[in-house]
Amino acid sequence: MERSVDPAPDPDPDLILRPRPASPLREVRDERFAAHGVRLLLKRDDLVHPELPGNKWRKLAPNLRAAVAGGYPELVTFGGAYSNHLRATAAAGRLLGLATVGIVRGDELAGRPLNDSLARCAADGMRLHFVTRSAYRDKAGLPALAGAEGAYVIPEGGSNALALHGCAELGRELSGACDVAAVACGTGGTLAGLAAGLGAGQRAVGVPVVGGGFLEAEIRSLQTAAFGGPAGDWSLAEGYAHGGYARVPAELARFAADFESRHGLPVERIYVAKLLWALLDLTRGGAFPRGTTLAAVVTGRP
Ligand SMILES: *Cc1c(COP(=O)(O)O)cnc(C)c1O
Repeated sequence: MERSVDPAPDPDPDLILRPRPASPLREVRDERFAAHGVRLLLKRDDLVHPELPGNKWRKLAPNLRAAVAGGYPELVTFGGAYSNHLRATAAAGRLLGLATVGIVRGDELAGRPLNDSLARCAADGMRLHFVTRSAYRDKAGLPALAGAEGAYVIPEGGSNALALHGCAELGRELSGACDVAAVACGTGGTLAGLAAGLGAGQRAVGVPVVGGGFLEAEIRSLQTAAFGGPAGDWSLAEGYAHGGYARVPAELARFAADFESRHGLPVERIYVAKLLWALLDLTRGGAFPRGTTLAAVVTGRP
């Protein structure tokens, strides 16, 4: 029998351009948190959109609306070979019926078979343009070199001022529902927007999945671009990168599998598992007073 790849579904711009209902918020009963008087809620942002999970949808939606309103012929963006952001942009382009160009870090990948993530991008119609790691550092000239002059440019990771406004909506959905809202951070764009959307008396905690301590300044400058200055009450909980980006030590994998079996939801390993681990560790260390309601944002799915 022949194997065949499922054909990509037809474009459906409404799935991108229309506002979406709030993602579900549900309490999980976890005695490890309860023992410290902490209620744990899961904000299931992985369910906010059928094709673009979680924060990728939040960040892209306002950019996609701007690209359509501006009459741009295509979208161009940047990412590594396993980038969730590239995948989400490719899916969005297919739904909108807009061409997409993905500029991929690492020209050594160009001659090789595509990994699953890039194959999905290509199946959604994204034109992939591979560049060397050094060329990738200076992004400004890359769209023209990739033949995407005149395209709507979305930055690496999707975090720009419009993206922060999209993520502020996530904060507004949590307004009044928790004391602390927590989210894993890559570029920090989601935390920056989320914090701005929370109500009075609420605060946001970000858990960086990469070490290095450069995020705080980055988040401040993103907020200045989006809101004209600092917005909301937020802080970072450092020390939970588990060895670096995309590193998943066995202990973390076991923790994630155990969380899945306790609570019956898939736990994405690169961001969400590190967030949940950090929240349990902070809870055990007394970071949250008894009576705290904690909302963990599930930003994506495996
Ligand atoms: C991209 C991504 C993040 C990081 O979001 P930033 O806004 O870049 O901090 C978090 N979780 C998941 C599942 C992601 O795919």
